[in-house]
Amino acid sequence: MVCGICIRKSPATPAAKLGTRGSGLCKKCLTDVEISSPIQKRTAKLISKYEKQIEELTSQCNIKSDECSMAWSLVESTNQELDRLKMELHQKLVQTDNFEQVLDTQTDQLRKVSQNYENDKKLWAAAISNLERKIKAMKQEQALLSLEAHDCAHAIPDLSKMIEAVRALVAQCDDLKMKYHEEMAKRKKLHNIVQETKGNIRVFCRCRPLSKVETSSGYKCVVDFDGANDGDIGIINGGTAKKTFKFDRVYTPKDDQAEVYADASPLVTSVLDGYNVCIFAYGQTGTGKTFTMEGTERNRGVNYRTLEELFKIAEERKDTVTYNISVSVLEVYNEQIRDLLATSPSSKKLEIKQAGEGSHHVPGIVEAKVEDINEVWDVLQTGSNSRAVGSNNVNEHSSRSHCMLCIMVRAKNLINGDCTRSKLWLVDLAGSERLAKTDAQGDRLKEAQNINRSLSALGDVISALASRSSHIPYRNSKLTHLLQDSLGGDSKALMFVQISPSDNDASETLSSLNFASRVRGIELGPAKKQVDTAELQKVKQMLERSKQEAKLKEESLRKLEENCQNLESKAKGKEQLYKNLQDKVKELESQLDSKTHSQITSEKQQSQLSGKLKEKEEACTALQHKIVELERKLGQQHQSDSVVAALKQTIINNKRLGLI
Ligand code: ADP
Ligand code: MG
Repeated sequence: MVCGICIRKSPATPAAKLGTRGSGLCKKCLTDVEISSPIQKRTAKLISKYEKQIEELTSQCNIKSDECSMAWSLVESTNQELDRLKMELHQKLVQTDNFEQVLDTQTDQLRKVSQNYENDKKLWAAAISNLERKIKAMKQEQALLSLEAHDCAHAIPDLSKMIEAVRALVAQCDDLKMKYHEEMAKRKKLHNIVQETKGNIRVFCRCRPLSKVETSSGYKCVVDFDGANDGDIGIINGGTAKKTFKFDRVYTPKDDQAEVYADASPLVTSVLDGYNVCIFAYGQTGTGKTFTMEGTERNRGVNYRTLEELFKIAEERKDTVTYNISVSVLEVYNEQIRDLLATSPSSKKLEIKQAGEGSHHVPGIVEAKVEDINEVWDVLQTGSNSRAVGSNNVNEHSSRSHCMLCIMVRAKNLINGDCTRSKLWLVDLAGSERLAKTDAQGDRLKEAQNINRSLSALGDVISALASRSSHIPYRNSKLTHLLQDSLGGDSKALMFVQISPSDNDASETLSSLNFASRVRGIELGPAKKQVDTAELQKVKQMLERSKQEAKLKEESLRKLEENCQNLESKAKGKEQLYKNLQDKVKELESQLDSKTHSQITSEKQQSQLSGKLKEKEEACTALQHKIVELERKLGQQHQSDSVVAALKQTIINNKRLGLI
């Protein structure tokens, strides 16, 4: 059913021609309809006209239906395409998001890298400018150096002249050295002659003043000082005739400490020259042994003054000789050695050992190294204090023991390299008073025996040395055993015989003077007594002259050596400076190389990074283009969507209107 007019389908016959025989044929159902009236004819005409119109409309409808179905299928396919594009767009958007994220991170990285690069660039720029500055300074320095080198090159002829001069000076110096050694040998020989004429042991007699107690007790002076200037001293003992003794020198009670020391002073020089020396104070208790040796703080004695002079001369000679000085303080009591510098009392007995040819020492004894006189004073005080600790009655004890200060001197001659070791013993001997045999008992007797034994051992040793005996009985007492190195041979000794002026002590005084003149007499001997004083004077003058000459030569030698050393050290200093500067230049050059190298690598890195950045930027712009393209396509899609929607609407409208 198409139009609702035809009810059934007619068999397939040729179409009836309307109007010819009064009937017509329905074009739709091909039914033969009879047309009899004009109305019917008109109706038939209208019908055929409408049928024609219907046919046309139908064909039009068919065409539209076809168009519609085509449009529909187009819409369908467009929708599909749209879906696909949507999908693709979605994917692209996701991709774009990813790309954007990647881009963001890479941009961040890039920013960081650029930041780092900028920082590095700044650092490098600073380093480079710094290096440039350094290079500039170095170049200036180098220029200066080359100028100096130039000067040096110019100075070479002068230098060779100087070298010649130095050589001549060195030759002169050698010559002077030889002469100096010859002079020294002569000096030593002369010194020995003088010493021999004087005797290796010199004895001085010192008499103290009468004490207040003695004066108030009415004691009288029995000492006669009339011949004191010639070394004579007389004792007027009661009614008996005056007894005279001769010494190297006699000190009256008026002579002060400095006067006494003046005679000991040459021995200090001998110690520094490498000789062993002994200085003793001998005498009855209370005659001033300790006063002479130690003295008081205001009125220093031989010990302190000796050390003071040792340091003074050592300082004066420091350009030619270096000295190393150490001190030990001992006490010999009842034939036992006590170390007065030991910080803790040792139960071990101190013994004397032979360390080598002509060298004895006490193992374990403290040897305090002293650098200056203040340190010496401390050491002497320590010794003095610990001496006091050992006894209840200090004076009593000290008078019964030998107090021995040993100064060890090690010297190194800087000119000829000679090394010497010498010792100076400063001994405050125990009281020499003889004890009445009936008085002495127990400990006192033992003490007295020990003192007597050691003092007579000292006399025996000196006696044996003077008579050039093959056996010297050093080992008969600890005192002589300890002094073995410093008694005999080249050693020198000095003894202060202390006496009291009081008539109360006359017999002891006589005994001391007898002992002392025995010591002195043995040494001088009959042959030496006949020394021609004029000859001695000549020898003395010669010695003095040669001393002066040697001193002058020593001085000029020292100056020459100083000059040589100065020249050498200057040349060395310049060489060193030049070397140092060259090293610096090399170091800076290598630093510069490494900096340039690292700068090149960083620049390379930078260019690589900017290449990557460029690539990323290009990829980014391509993506942006794609997005624009896709957005454009999406826009077209929307347009075609709206066209389709419009068409759909038209179709719906047409359908509603019944046009289709
Ligand atoms: P020693 O050590 O021989 O027993 P000291 O040295 O203790 O004798 O002296 C005893 C006393 O005599 C001390 O008071 C000391 O000051 C004094 N004395 C000793 N010699 C002299 C002198 N030359 N001038 C002044 N006083 C002296
Ligand atoms: Mg004393």
